[in-house]
Amino acid sequence: MDVASGLTAASQVIEILKQIKNLDASIDAVAYKEKLLELRENAFEARSALLDVKQELLENASTIAALEAQIKNLTSGSICPKCSSGTMKTIITKPHSMRSAANHGVQIWTKECDAEDCNHRDEIIHDPNGLLKK
Ligand SMILES: [Zn+2]
Repeated sequence: MDVASGLTAASQVIEILKQIKNLDASIDAVAYKEKLLELRENAFEARSALLDVKQELLENASTIAALEAQIKNLTSGSICPKCSSGTMKTIITKPHSMRSAANHGVQIWTKECDAEDCNHRDEIIHDPNGLLKK
């Protein structure tokens, strides 16, 4: 069941409640009971639809969390750009060749993919304070 049918069932519940309100239960007991059964059936349908929607929302939230984690991994530079399966690990750090940058903590980091058959290496500038961008 989907959101639309759940809303329809909930609308019918409201409509039946209006009809029950207008019934004189002491005069038309059979119609009153029929309306109560109809009301109950529609309330169950609305509840079922809402439970389905809740389940779908939970699944969507789980998918979104997994995709966010994947995006974070892919954009963090920690996934190997060559094989896309290994993780780039920092294996060597050295001061930047420009002494003034090195004096302010800028380093060159050599990273290597940890996948067995990849061996991809990359050097990145570790510039924690963004000195070289200024
Ligand atoms: Zn790799």
